[in-house]
Amino acid sequence: MNVTEIFFKDWRNLADVHFRPDAAINIFLGLNAQGKTNILEAINFASLLRSRAGKELELIRWGQSVAFVRIKYIKADISHELAIEISTERRRRILLDANPIRPRELLGKLNSVFFSPEDLFMFKSSPSTRRKFLDAQISQAVPIYFLELSKYTKLVEMRNALLKKIREGSARINDLELWDEQLADACARVTAKRVSAVNKINLLANLMQRKISAQAENLSVVYEIHGLDVAATKNFSAEDFSAQFLRTLKARRSEDVRRGSTSLGAHLDDLKFFVNGRELKLFGSQGQLRTVALALKLSELQFLKTETGEYPLLLLDDVMSELDAARRELLLDFLCREKIQTLITATDRTYFPTHSFGKIFFVKAGTLVDDSTQ
Ligand code: ATP
Ligand code: MG
Repeated sequence: MNVTEIFFKDWRNLADVHFRPDAAINIFLGLNAQGKTNILEAINFASLLRSRAGKELELIRWGQSVAFVRIKYIKADISHELAIEISTERRRRILLDANPIRPRELLGKLNSVFFSPEDLFMFKSSPSTRRKFLDAQISQAVPIYFLELSKYTKLVEMRNALLKKIREGSARINDLELWDEQLADACARVTAKRVSAVNKINLLANLMQRKISAQAENLSVVYEIHGLDVAATKNFSAEDFSAQFLRTLKARRSEDVRRGSTSLGAHLDDLKFFVNGRELKLFGSQGQLRTVALALKLSELQFLKTETGEYPLLLLDDVMSELDAARRELLLDFLCREKIQTLITATDRTYFPTHSFGKIFFVKAGTLVDDSTQ
């Protein structure tokens, strides 16, 4: 995939920005608070509808009522144009090749992988953050997964509502029969896709970890199935899982009624990370956390390439200041060799070697200056 042209209008502090990224590496240099992260965030929003903003309307430039991003890209040799408009007065509009599409149809269109320093929090925060990381990755590669996951989530909600009714005496425990079977089936589908993705990510992330740490560190990523004695290995069988899930779910019914919630399933699973056999969350150094976060992003890139046939766009926010010189060089070498279209932000030019390998843009108060005009 190749992004050829990008426009922003009143998106955060980017009043009116237009640029054509290079097909290889693009560096965005600027002092603090100039709009570098805003550029990457806007592109990632067009890809996944996700941002660090609490409310979507915070993305609109202060004092304005409409924010707009338009991105032209080539995917599987076909040119596309994606446009997203956020307004204080209308509903959000998404247009692909001038046709309106729904949010869930957007997934898998403009694929991107975004590394931000905030990713480091993932390791220490709640399991839901780690599940989100995994779910976003699978949804981009296999868009139908998003529907399966939504169906599963809805079933859990409906079952929980029924559990509460049973607790209050307005429904019977046998009413769970139908829900439990559907839930077992939906959970098996979601879990099978997660297990298969983690097995692939595990291999790829370890390769990346070894590469960036000059072979010193091995990384393993493990999917932990909550409350069941099922290993998330290559031999995972959705059928066996579904049968065991249903048995356990039935055995826990009265406990679930008492709690008023479903105590088993993909909504409770977790991801664990081990470096040289030790759990990262408990024993990892700050540097190891950073390296693992980057290795995971690079493996996500490889994962999407294997699943979709093309590298997604790579967005690296402030990654350079966190790496030592050897690791920075290994990273840039890898990106150049693999011809991965990348947008990197940094505050300092010295992080990059002097030879040219793409474009440099200077970001100043929400505007862009191309290097060639300097
Ligand atoms: P750093 O090097 O510190 O990471 P940066 O160049 O990445 O800086 P950004 O995070 O992109 O900076 O933010 C630049 C500025 O955008 C912020 O200081 C903020 O004042 C401004 N900003 C954020 N949201 C809006 C908005 N909705 N309207 C106008 N300006 C905004
Ligand atoms: Mg920033």
